[in-house]
Amino acid sequence: MLTTAFSGSLFVVAAPSGAGKSTLVNALLAQEPGIQLSISTTTRPPRPGEQDGVHYHFTTAEDFERRAERGEFLEWAEVHGNYYGTSRLSVEEKMKSGTDILLEIDWQGARQVKKQFPDAAGIFILPPSIAALEERLHKRGTDEPHIITRRLLAAGGEIAHAPEFEYAIINEEFNVALAELRAIVQATRCRFAQQAARNASLFAQLGIHALQQS
Ligand code: 5GP
Repeated sequence: MLTTAFSGSLFVVAAPSGAGKSTLVNALLAQEPGIQLSISTTTRPPRPGEQDGVHYHFTTAEDFERRAERGEFLEWAEVHGNYYGTSRLSVEEKMKSGTDILLEIDWQGARQVKKQFPDAAGIFILPPSIAALEERLHKRGTDEPHIITRRLLAAGGEIAHAPEFEYAIINEEFNVALAELRAIVQATRCRFAQQAARNASLFAQLGIHALQQS
């Protein structure tokens, strides 16, 4: 295929809690203004400092289930006992208009996205060790101890799905990990189909046509 209906690229970033995913993603967004983070909807209660519509769209389980039934989510999953989902409309509209979208979601959601968007770049962030993961979760201090224990147990489950992603980043040295993340973003943007979608008139001028299927 020469072009895609979506001129924006889709990035899916997953990691176990405590791998430093959000810090890395926030640094990426600061350096790459062409990417927008999709704001998920969740039934998890807000943590101190989290704002509705900024970090998440917070809602009730009844509302979430109603919307999931109506097919409003591109993907959704139950993670650590709460629902989390990505708005289909918001992601597709932005990608059609050429904005690159980044989803910070779990492996279950990543799998659903990949089925619908096989070109999505799946990136898995790994901690340098289990001890580092545990230390980061305790230092964050935002969750109750029983929730930290649940997240640590879940970390092993999340990591087991890392092979389903195209890219793996080991977050040992923050700056190295960030440079690797940016390199993946830049390479994805240079994929032939994405370039053709973003530069349709140039490709036409150059007489570049779709490959014939043989
Ligand atoms: P947290 O509660 O720490 O913000 O997120 C818990 C987990 O839910 C993380 O692994 C995060 O990536 C995942 N998550 C956040 N938003 C979504 C979403 O929209 N869909 C899915 N499938 N997972 C999500």
